Amino acid sequence: MRFCDIPGHDNIKQRLCALVDSGRMPHALLLEGKEGSAKFALAMALAQYIQCNDRHDGDSCGQCRSCRQMQMMGHYDVYYMYPVVKKNSKPTTSAYFAKEFAEYMAENPFMGLDRWQKHLEDLNAQPAIFVEDANEVLGKLGTTARSGRNKVVVMWMAERMREEAANKLLKIIEEPYPDTFFILTTNNPRAILPTIYSRCQRVAVPPYSDVEVAEIVMRYTNLSPEAAMAIASTAEGNAARAIAVANNDSAQLQSLDFFTRLMRGAYAKKVSELRRWADELGAKGREANINFYNYCSHLIRENFILNIGEPVLNSLTAAEAQFSQRFSPFINERNVEDLLDLFNRGAADIAANGNARIIAFDTAIHIIMLLRR
Ligand SMILES: [Zn+2]
Repeated sequence: MRFCDIPGHDNIKQRLCALVDSGRMPHALLLEGKEGSAKFALAMALAQYIQCNDRHDGDSCGQCRSCRQMQMMGHYDVYYMYPVVKKNSKPTTSAYFAKEFAEYMAENPFMGLDRWQKHLEDLNAQPAIFVEDANEVLGKLGTTARSGRNKVVVMWMAERMREEAANKLLKIIEEPYPDTFFILTTNNPRAILPTIYSRCQRVAVPPYSDVEVAEIVMRYTNLSPEAAMAIASTAEGNAARAIAVANNDSAQLQSLDFFTRLMRGAYAKKVSELRRWADELGAKGREANINFYNYCSHLIRENFILNIGEPVLNSLTAAEAQFSQRFSPFINERNVEDLLDLFNRGAADIAANGNARIIAFDTAIHIIMLLRR
């Protein structure tokens, strides 16, 4: 990945290059930004820039041996860390999943954890960066003969570091080797162990503009500029979501279907239907459930905005907009906050290992009452 492969963010690119060029590259850098922003793409481009043998014009060359290795995610002195799952007695290290991860990132580097989890074919585990992974990377950093070459650790979704893993890495982040650089990325900086967070120099990566999202959609799909722009204008700067919609991602459509069934069932007080709905949703796996509750919060907020007559702020797909025309009058100042609380609680309870079916049914029952306010 070269910087020129990433739309926009010229200021950030210049700032990152300047850090390397001036020899002031921090040993721990954190790129933070919302899902679907460019932070991981920028991290990969920065690692490639650090390793390139022929940097020029604010970018890596893309052609030297080092750049070619980077483009296949196979550079000898660059280690990737990312959340993985426990599979029987297989190692819980990123290196063990390297082939899958390279394939996944080749699809597009903006995607989120839910898609990665599908690649891992385990929808129930909560992917994490385990201590085993931290030990392995520390071993590589420590035992490689100090060849004078820079070593870079690029971490995707640092908020998924288990506490033990973070504690293992803390020492080297506090007292780094002179030739070792950590580039961390996160959607959720508050979930990173504060001792790690405080040691990182931070760079905020803002969400993309609609025009930039459209450019990314065109790069990763076959859509026309008009169609890409139409999708981009509903994506709130989230390139991952825009690409999913462009690919007619079934998960996205399925979420809307689950949402409409929930609201119709609750409005008609059809408890037995809601029970079936809860059983179906509950069987989808933990991350899918968490994503669903977050999606509900998004739709509730948008419907409230529609109801109070602020269409300018609204960002819905065509299918969502159609449903919302009739649904939005039910979301008002008397129930909007409680509904948002309910869905936030649902996501938190699932994350805390609650029973997904029970949480879904309990949520549905509350909605029966909340829709009548
Ligand atoms: Zn190069």
